[in-house]
Amino acid sequence: MNTQQIITNVDNIDAEQLQRAKQIITELQKELPEYIARGHGPFLAAIYQGDKLIAKYANTVVIDKCSNHHAEINTIRAAQAELKNYDLSKYNLDLYVTAEPCVMCVGAIMWSGIRNVYYGVSTPQVEKITGFFEGFKPNWFDEFKKLGINVYGNIEPELGEDVLQQYVDNQNIIYKPSR
Ligand SMILES: [Zn+2]
Repeated sequence: MNTQQIITNVDNIDAEQLQRAKQIITELQKELPEYIARGHGPFLAAIYQGDKLIAKYANTVVIDKCSNHHAEINTIRAAQAELKNYDLSKYNLDLYVTAEPCVMCVGAIMWSGIRNVYYGVSTPQVEKITGFFEGFKPNWFDEFKKLGINVYGNIEPELGEDVLQQYVDNQNIIYKPSR
């Protein structure tokens, strides 16, 4: 079982920023069951430039038969295609995602040029509810801070936990790298 703390950084953002993050994460959580019903994995991400939506994608691992098609990676790829640039740093973009990024997505975010990350359900809760394994990412908040990337977690977690619980109740897919 994961021993990571449930980390939250929401005390460090201003009220307007937090309100927008809560609104976007809530919208993503409410849309997510429709994606799940169409065969997507239970995670949805969106990249915004201020109030402007640049890209939005769910997890398509099962649909695409590709283990790296997580929501964050799909969304980063779509944003880079949209902006025709592999380096997003000059666009000052925010990534919103329904759950804390896994170890693979932490890496993908680090190389993308995303400036701010906002997530819903924490990794310990994702692992507890779904049985998924999210990987090793010690102190990733602090490591990202050194790189100038801000991470804010545990935004409207109860809503996201309900969506994940519904997913588990309705599916029999348990995916673990250890098999
Ligand atoms: Zn991931």
